[in-house]
Amino acid sequence: MKILVAVKQVAALDEDFAFRDDGRDVDADFLIRDLNEWDDFSLEEAVKIKETAAEGGAASSVEVIAVSVGPEEVDESLRKCLAKGADRAIRVWDAAIEGSDPIAIARVVAAVARREAPDMLFAGVQSSDQSFAATGIATAAFLDWPHAAVVSQLNYTPGAQRALFRRELEGGLLHEIEIQCPAVLTVQLGINTPRYASLRSIKQAAAKPIEILSLANIGLNAADVGESGSASRVRRMYIPDKARAELIDGDVAAQAQRLAAIIREFKGAGTGGGAA
Ligand code: AMP
Repeated sequence: MKILVAVKQVAALDEDFAFRDDGRDVDADFLIRDLNEWDDFSLEEAVKIKETAAEGGAASSVEVIAVSVGPEEVDESLRKCLAKGADRAIRVWDAAIEGSDPIAIARVVAAVARREAPDMLFAGVQSSDQSFAATGIATAAFLDWPHAAVVSQLNYTPGAQRALFRRELEGGLLHEIEIQCPAVLTVQLGINTPRYASLRSIKQAAAKPIEILSLANIGLNAADVGESGSASRVRRMYIPDKARAELIDGDVAAQAQRLAAIIREFKGAGTGGGAA
């Protein structure tokens, strides 16, 4: 039995940063990379399910497989997953994947899922850097599997036909849902307490292989990914102008005069002219 966990290496901004020459992203030299926080929780959930099944003497063992779409530096996050209990790690990369939106990434994750045929697929609710909150659900659409988002509690026995879970709704309400497996669930923060990797497991993970797959290995072409395989495209990334605030002092007449001057300034009419 298998649980596939889609994990993303996210980027956080360094104190100072610059945009790329094309103005569509931050220059990679200014980014600090780490495993997406949500994916730490979904991996923990999968590892917990595996351990519970083993403790309960399950007939066949559960394999937890972390999969990520990204270049070589993503191996660092995959090793973190291996150190925290994933049995295998898969990374898919091809230069053509550069510039993929969540739909194209989902197409790749779905292709890996078809190859691995897991009993369940977990993704995070969202990524902390781009917050699309789309990849997991889009993966389910490509697979034509049932799916649910923002799962905050899960009761799943590997191999079972159905899983039971809860989702948090607005106003403190909960949804309790039963879903047919295999399914794609996007996992919310706080569903469990992710473990720290021990020094021993970090060392062991460093020696474990990471399976690198090309597009051809999973039956995709360059046209399925990158901008040609995407439904959206970032046009530019920028820092918005800072909002200004000004406290207007003085009596009512002085305040009105200042207000009128500000309005004229915004309209580009200059500050001279008639009474307020
Ligand atoms: P997003 O749709 O970007 O907000 O990401 C939501 C979730 O989709 C993440 O928590 C991951 O589980 C998964 N995901 C996003 N990007 C990737 C990627 N490059 N490789 C594998 N999984 C990903």
